[in-house]
Amino acid sequence: MSQMWGIVPLPVVGHSSNRLTLLARPDWDFIAMKRYSVFAIAREAARYHTGWERAWAARAPKKKYDVIIVGAGGHGLATAYYLGRNHGIRNVAVLEKGWLGGGNTGRNTTIIRSNYLQDPSAAIYEKSRSLYETLSQDLNYNVMFSPRGVMMLAQTHHEVRGYQRTAHANALQGVATEYISPQRVKELCPIIDIDGPRYPVLGALWQPRGGTARHDAVAWGYARACSDMGMDIIQQCEVTAVRQSGSKVTGVSTTKGEIDCDKLGIVVAGHSGVLADMAGFRLPIESVALQALVSEPIKPCMDVVVMANTVHGYMSQSDKGEMVIGGGADGYNNYTQRGSFHHIEETVRALIETFPMISRLKMLRQWGGIVDMTGDRSPILSKTPLEGCFINCGWGTGGFKAIPGSGWGMAELMAKGASPLTDAFTLDRFREGRFIDESVAAGVAH
Ligand SMILES: Cc1cc2nc3c(=O)[nH]c(=O)nc-3n(C[C@H](O)[C@H](O)[C@H](O)COP(=O)(O)OP(=O)(O)OC[C@H]3O[C@@H](n4cnc5c(N)ncnc54)[C@H](O)[C@@H]3O)c2cc1C
Repeated sequence: MSQMWGIVPLPVVGHSSNRLTLLARPDWDFIAMKRYSVFAIAREAARYHTGWERAWAARAPKKKYDVIIVGAGGHGLATAYYLGRNHGIRNVAVLEKGWLGGGNTGRNTTIIRSNYLQDPSAAIYEKSRSLYETLSQDLNYNVMFSPRGVMMLAQTHHEVRGYQRTAHANALQGVATEYISPQRVKELCPIIDIDGPRYPVLGALWQPRGGTARHDAVAWGYARACSDMGMDIIQQCEVTAVRQSGSKVTGVSTTKGEIDCDKLGIVVAGHSGVLADMAGFRLPIESVALQALVSEPIKPCMDVVVMANTVHGYMSQSDKGEMVIGGGADGYNNYTQRGSFHHIEETVRALIETFPMISRLKMLRQWGGIVDMTGDRSPILSKTPLEGCFINCGWGTGGFKAIPGSGWGMAELMAKGASPLTDAFTLDRFREGRFIDESVAAGVAH
């Protein structure tokens, strides 16, 4: 706990997982942070759920923080969390212009996998996937990680070669994947038509411990854990300028006033170019809308995640029974968070070839998010030309799966100046030509 806090331990009542710690700060009322547990649920059930507290505190910004993170999406919140947990840096604010998790983190189709081709990618995505395995316990928040298995269909000979190569690379990297036959695809997912008219299924890259998690819960779990450590999460607080003295960052101007900091982390996905412009440097990023849709809920019919990159669609079934469907990105830059209408038609038309049964489903909702695409389809986790200012962006269509690993690496980079997880993902690689080409793993995939 930082010096700002007085800690008043209360007597433990009942089971130890149900203990209370009372935290007090001069500018803030007392709040009781309780652990979520089966005992807490039973207690609240007995008193009609009147005792739950706010999951995170709502506060006014202080004048100065050691670290400010711009963007309360999954990556920003995870960065703050690991700064506190792994490096003891807790005088941290996360500033969010809207509501936390309201960007791409709350808009994605939640696919988690780590079957990437290049070694640096496999390292950060597998770190992330392995953190997801115990994230609910680590955060004391149920993120509903469901390692149900992810398959990427090979529907052209080019894809067969690409995925077989990735399976070999994954074996060398220690990532558990295998290349499977069309018959095995059919066994794992009976609703697929493997003899499809245009693109029959020729095989698939299968990652048995890939899967999904509840996207909002990931953001909420990290936010609650950050608040529990004494960090400030400030919503409705847009950063409008990055302040600097000489070549060093000194703080930000926001819609809630000026706030000073020693270090600044820019973690704003589709708006990275806007923030970089405020900080005085340029990024090799394009911002485009990517969209998704869900069907009406139906009985369980699919217990794996399937990605069909040739026909450009992917699908899983949510716990509520909806078919969660993702499609392509717009072919032009924009900030609309809606996406073009023709993509809905193209995505559904493409998926019907592989899953004929969805032709009888009604689609309920469609939405979009602004994704940040780099030329090599790999992220940027890097120092910037402005001293003390760091950037985490470029996750494009596939950054939900990377949230824990990215937060872990970004926190280490900000705390120590370098991290083995982020070393390859610098901004310099675009100047020096050291691209990390993931167009097979991430060109259209998620
Ligand atoms: C439709 C769709 C489907 C996807 N499917 C998948 C998938 O299946 N699997 C997968 O791994 N990934 C997927 N992704 C990608 C994934 O959602 C993103 O890569 C990831 O969520 C990015 O997280 P983030 O925290 O970087 O960004 P965000 O969650 O977008 O957070 C950035 C935050 O910064 C805030 N912000 C911006 N400007 C400012 C400012 N000036 N001041 C303060 N705050 C600001 C925004 O309001 C936002 O809340 C998908 C994306 C979309 C849109």
